[in-house]
Amino acid sequence: MSHRIAVLPGDGIGPEVMKESLKVLDAVAAKVGIEFEYAEGAIGGIAIDQYGTPLPESTVKLCSSSEAVLLGSIGGPKWDNLPPEKRPELGGLLALRKSLNLFANLRPVKVYDAVKGLCPLAADRLSGGLDILTVRELSGGIYFGTPKKVDDTTGMDTMIYSAGEVERIARIGFEAAKSRRKKVTSVDKANVLHTSILWRNTVERVAKDYPEIELNHMYVDNAAMQLILDPSQFDIILTGNLFGDILSDESAALAGSLGMLPSASLGTEINLFEPSGGSAPDIAGKGIANPIAQILSAGMMLEYSLANIDAAKRIYSAVDKVIASGLRTADIASGGETVSTSEMGDAIAAVV
Ligand code: NAD
Repeated sequence: MSHRIAVLPGDGIGPEVMKESLKVLDAVAAKVGIEFEYAEGAIGGIAIDQYGTPLPESTVKLCSSSEAVLLGSIGGPKWDNLPPEKRPELGGLLALRKSLNLFANLRPVKVYDAVKGLCPLAADRLSGGLDILTVRELSGGIYFGTPKKVDDTTGMDTMIYSAGEVERIARIGFEAAKSRRKKVTSVDKANVLHTSILWRNTVERVAKDYPEIELNHMYVDNAAMQLILDPSQFDIILTGNLFGDILSDESAALAGSLGMLPSASLGTEINLFEPSGGSAPDIAGKGIANPIAQILSAGMMLEYSLANIDAAKRIYSAVDKVIASGLRTADIASGGETVSTSEMGDAIAAVV
């Protein structure tokens, strides 16, 4: 079986780490008897340089005619002075997310035993391990609600959620919990916000369809504290756009390096997979970036878009093995010996 994948390497370290994820995907494909057909497109700064726009029409077409989109990263100092809508971030990535109707953002954060010294928390706080998946609503809430207004005296944003929007993200959370530790913590501010009362009631209703999943509710201020005090209690954090933006970055900080953190954005048809970090201009072109975030993003693509759990698990456990074996790129090395981006990719591809 052949899968058509849109590959958008983008800027900075994007092309370097993308190369390694395709290497690993090809190694997995050979093991499980599937094939990938990669079609490359331009996005971000490189697309501005080549086509005069951060999101060429040809890239949108390519993505919408593929099974999934694997993205590297976009942006960099060269394009920082452009007006916001012409910049790689707003005109490129956000525009692509919108055109694909992506409404759910999944960000797993795991602290690997062998590198738990990178976590800023004291070791005793990690005794129960740390493996959290934040499931964040991405297309609604206060970032998109209208009316919005700012003048010299007043600033206004509007927070709106419909029950339908909450239900579809809740289902993603409960479905994801099935293959994990079967616990969903729904985070809201239902003691103050009406949107949160709707959120909580809707999540309760959806939970009835998933009797095997344990559900608890937590106010967002408490969740922010609990992530620091006792992060092991969380399996899935299910939350809205604003709270998810903040909590997913807070939990990402616990992993110690952005180079290890993948993400998935799920839509109504075609999903997008990319590292949580950016284009890392400070290390781009040096061959030292950590490719694991990009490789794990490819794993999430296998899991969430191609429904090939066996192939996805091969990637996840290959990363586990290589980290446990002591191989380190500079960002996770804590002073010891380091390997290059491609050496890390080779090592993971060898054990999938
Ligand atoms: P960044 O995530 O690019 O870098 C922050 C720090 O993390 C840097 O020190 C970087 O070297 C390190 N880092 C990130 N990924 C790494 C990896 N794989 N291996 C090793 N180290 C890694 O954030 P920034 O510096 O604030 O932004 C740089 C550019 O990226 C900006 O133009 C920004 O707009 C853009 N950006 C893009 C995305 C995206 O493509 N989704 C996300 C965030 C930022």
